[in-house]
Amino acid sequence: MNIHEYQGKQVLKGFGAPVAEGVAITSVDQAEAAARALPGPLYVVKSQIHAGGRGKGHFKELTPEARGGVRLARSIEDVVKNAREMLGNTLVTAQTGPAGKQVNRLYIEDGADIDRELYCSLLVDRQYGRIAFVVSTEGGVDIEAVAHNSPEKIQTIVIDPEAGVTDADVSRLNAAFKLDGQAAEDGKSLFPILYGAFVDTDMAMLEVNPLIVMTDGRLRVLDAKVSFDGNAL
Ligand code: ADP
Ligand code: MG
Repeated sequence: MNIHEYQGKQVLKGFGAPVAEGVAITSVDQAEAAARALPGPLYVVKSQIHAGGRGKGHFKELTPEARGGVRLARSIEDVVKNAREMLGNTLVTAQTGPAGKQVNRLYIEDGADIDRELYCSLLVDRQYGRIAFVVSTEGGVDIEAVAHNSPEKIQTIVIDPEAGVTDADVSRLNAAFKLDGQAAEDGKSLFPILYGAFVDTDMAMLEVNPLIVMTDGRLRVLDAKVSFDGNAL
């Protein structure tokens, strides 16, 4: 079973992961209040559909020049305008197939000042029967393309279930992401949090693409794709 980005972030937040403030809405009327509840001046309007590639997607009902399913907005009016354009329309992405998916819910999120976009996923490594981090410095892009064009940029770090995420694992992850300073410090808490959330809620897959380093050096979970094992319910 898959859940929406905003629900995945709620779960991760409950485990202490750094996520942005955000408000889920289902009507244009709610967009202004949602934006007002956020600090600004940068907002992001994000389509909540069960498919990735939203940012690079397009809406069937809009012109080809119209923006995609994840949009930056620089004022409250801009949030409302984008919400009006997106709600009820059909978003087609590389993952939806040509029919696309209707956008019935938006997540209005605090905008982050991004320095780097990383790729961080957790899954059950079939070869070892253990949970593994699959990571790359090349985040925010289609990871299949990275796997195809530059597989050396993807690293797998398998976690020993008895030990959990050790200091040595954290060091490996920080090195794989090329993190230092505050970001490496944040990694020390974040990687065990992601692992704990994965184990405790019986996730089958957790994909954070991107995990970002912000211009202030802090880490933030910017996107979250979570699927659960059928029997976790
Ligand atoms: P998708 O993977 O479905 O395209 P993402 O949530 O990854 O959706 O968003 C696409 C891109 O939009 C990200 O790679 C990032 O560059 C940008 N983005 C998303 N959320 C924010 C945010 N809160 N602040 C700033 N930029 C964002
Ligand atoms: Mg993404």
